[in-house]
Parts: sequence; C-alpha cells; structure tokens
Amino acid sequence: MASIADALTSTRARLQAACQAAGRDVASVRLLAVSKTFGVEAVAAAHAAGQRAFGENYIAEGVDKIQAALALGLGGLEWHCIGPVQSNKTALVAAHFDWLHSVDRLKIAQRLSAQRPAHLPALQVCLQVNLDGEASKSGLSLAEVVPLAREVAALPGLCLRGLMSIPAPRDRAGSLHSPCGSEAQRQPHRALAGLFAQCQQALAGGAGQHAARFDTLSMGMSEDLEAAVAEGSTLVRVGRSIFGERGDTA
Ligand SMILES: *Cc1c(COP(=O)(O)O)cnc(C)c1O
Repeated sequence: MASIADALTSTRARLQAACQAAGRDVASVRLLAVSKTFGVEAVAAAHAAGQRAFGENYIAEGVDKIQAALALGLGGLEWHCIGPVQSNKTALVAAHFDWLHSVDRLKIAQRLSAQRPAHLPALQVCLQVNLDGEASKSGLSLAEVVPLAREVAALPGLCLRGLMSIPAPRDRAGSLHSPCGSEAQRQPHRALAGLFAQCQQALAGGAGQHAARFDTLSMGMSEDLEAAVAEGSTLVRVGRSIFGERGDTA
C-alpha cells in the first residue's frame, strides 16, 4: 500500500492536472484531506507531508482527533466539519472546528452563531445543497438556498463562505477517461456552480462585507475531483485517494 505521503503527492498531481486541463491556477483550488475513520497518526503523516486542512464527518470522533493532534503539537491545522450536525452537537462544533460545510437549517446556524466562543474568529460555513432531490439526504432544495444564505450572512458568529454538495455517485470511472471528468459527473457540479453565482449576486445586494467572502465552492471527492475542478470547485474534499479505503461504508 502506498504511504500517505505518496498518496498525497499523487492526489496533488491529479489536482494539478485537472487545473491545467481546466485552464485554472492550481492555487485556486484547496485540498481538504478527509481523515474520517482514520486515527491521529494518519493526520500526523499527512501533516508531515505538508497537509494542513482536514475534514471530519462525525463530531465526537473529530473533536477527539483535534485534541489528540494538539497533544502531539501538530501546528497550523485547520479543521473542517463536513458531516450532518444535530442541535445537541452545535456547541461542540462551535468550540472546536474552524469550518462547517453542512449548514442546512436556520435553527442550526443560529445556535452555532450564539455558541461560537468570543475568543475565536467567526465559524466559516457553507450551505449544503441537495442537488439530487432525494428526500433521504440532508441538504437544501434549490429554492431554499438564496433565502437561507441571506439569513446566515447576517449572523455575527458565522462567516458565510459558500456552497457544498455531495452528488449521488455517477459514472465512477469518469476521471479515468478524461482530465476534465465525464459529462455525467460534471452535470451536478455545473448546477451547484450556477446556484453559487446566483447567491453571489443576491448577497452583493445586501451586506457587502459578506458578499466579498462568499468565495468557496466545496465540491469534488476522490472519484470526481476532475469534474468538479472543471466546473469551478475551489475546495475538493478527498478521503480515500489520500488515506486509502475506509473500513466502514461512511
Ligand atoms: C467521506 C466524505 C468525503 C470524502 O470522500 P472520498 O470518496 O473518500 O474522497 C467528502 N465529502 C464528504 C461530505 C464525505 O462524507
């Protein structure tokens, strides 16, 4: 099995090739290493290879890992919560994470804003959009996005940074065929990018300071990062390509 350092190198090379194919600067896309289900040793190995931004799905697991990383003295880490958050977990998220990608209700946003400790900068948040319209999945319907963006942008403890989505997997081999992904993979990312532009316009009419920081399109995972970059992603969330297959199905 490849080491985490080697896997990071090849993931960065994939990202670079995708940016080149899309005519984009590689500095315009951040790599978030999704370390869920892996221990703090995996985070330490990625850190030693220069990675600083990490994503976690499960709040309790994430908080334990954040504390273990602090105990190891790993510096400069940025922690992103990318999983669903229930009301009874908002205080933990507000106290420990730098980012939350999965806001999909005003009530959760209000609790996070109120619970964000005063000594920390605002919690950076994205709204999660459900592009596939599956009732079982979390995320906002398209029509809900702009109204919620306006409300979240006004909350003092939060900084609204953009949109996130997890499209249903499609055409898993797409990235093998083309450095821009396949059309089937690109379609949901194109839809999110369109909604992102719409939100940017809507926010520009309101508080200018917030509109200026609405700059994050969180889309693309191990299987479709090429397609996401081709459609304008500014942050790809990559787990398996860096850390290997997970033992669970998460
Ligand atoms: C697990 C997960 C990822 C990473 O998926 P991989 O297929 O391992 O790259 C990205 N985003 C979210 C929200 C996830 O839950």
